[in-house]
Amino acid sequence: MSLLVVGSVAFDSVKTPFGTAENVLGGSATYFSVSASYFTDVSLVAVVGEDFNKEDIEIFKIRNIDTEGLEKRKGKTFKWKGEYGYDLNEAHTLDTQLNVFADFNPKLPEKYKDCEYVFLANIDPDLQREILNQIRKPKLIACDTMNFWIERKFDSLKKMIEQVDIVIINEAELRELAGEANLVKAAQKVLSWGPKRLIAKRGEYGALMFSDSTVFSAPAYPLESVFDPTGAGDSFAGGFMGYISNVNNINESSVRQAIIFGSAMASFNVEDFSLNRLKNLSYREIEERFKEFKRLTHFDDL
Ligand code: AMP
Repeated sequence: MSLLVVGSVAFDSVKTPFGTAENVLGGSATYFSVSASYFTDVSLVAVVGEDFNKEDIEIFKIRNIDTEGLEKRKGKTFKWKGEYGYDLNEAHTLDTQLNVFADFNPKLPEKYKDCEYVFLANIDPDLQREILNQIRKPKLIACDTMNFWIERKFDSLKKMIEQVDIVIINEAELRELAGEANLVKAAQKVLSWGPKRLIAKRGEYGALMFSDSTVFSAPAYPLESVFDPTGAGDSFAGGFMGYISNVNNINESSVRQAIIFGSAMASFNVEDFSLNRLKNLSYREIEERFKEFKRLTHFDDL
């Protein structure tokens, strides 16, 4: 099954305690689509500026990602500047320049309208809703967001969330979105708006998935060397949605497996800056890490 993603394609400048990277390829849709491309066919909807070169688009071509929905416009590509302290779970945004995203009006190519799996990656909720209006018969819609949009466009964001099946969001942003400090209560509140499941991403503490009757907990992979957490959340979502779209079967078991594939992709992503690690994986490595998660969490029943 094919998977559609709308989100940001960006040039990021990132500083972590282990180094810096200036104007490197990033963006929520970029990390998502490269991660998901190891599992399924991906179609990308985003906009870039005149400063986006042939070499920048190469990674999508190498990963066989359909870029018919990637518009090039007059102006500059979206830019994000962020910093991490030793607590790599929290990104501090230093600057966000929307540039060509400021007046982007996505028009889905005809063949994208029949995609059954849709991911509304972190971007202006008005744009996320425009995509929803153009999709014909989706089987599963998931979304992400961040504090930038919660603080600026809450009403639009809530309307978007009311229409999706799964919300995948950082735990701090979940608390902010729900206006509730307790994670369980915050998840329940967002689920009461309409989604069937909510996945709280907890950085090095893993992920928690809530539905109205179940909770599933997955650890993060204990890595010795973490360089850059940028894109971990999007790579997680890419592995999750990519796997679900590949098996084309949404039940408690497949969704739990998808969370482990998502966690595996996030663990690879943080091992290097930008998409350097994510773009050079083999499916065998991904499966091997999936199995390591199984060993990591196995214990005998009483
Ligand atoms: P994450 O997976 O949460 O680490 O997402 C990191 C990516 O989000 C970076 O590559 C940024 O380019 C992108 N990003 C940062 N702020 C925004 C924003 N306000 N809207 C859309 N994308 C953003």
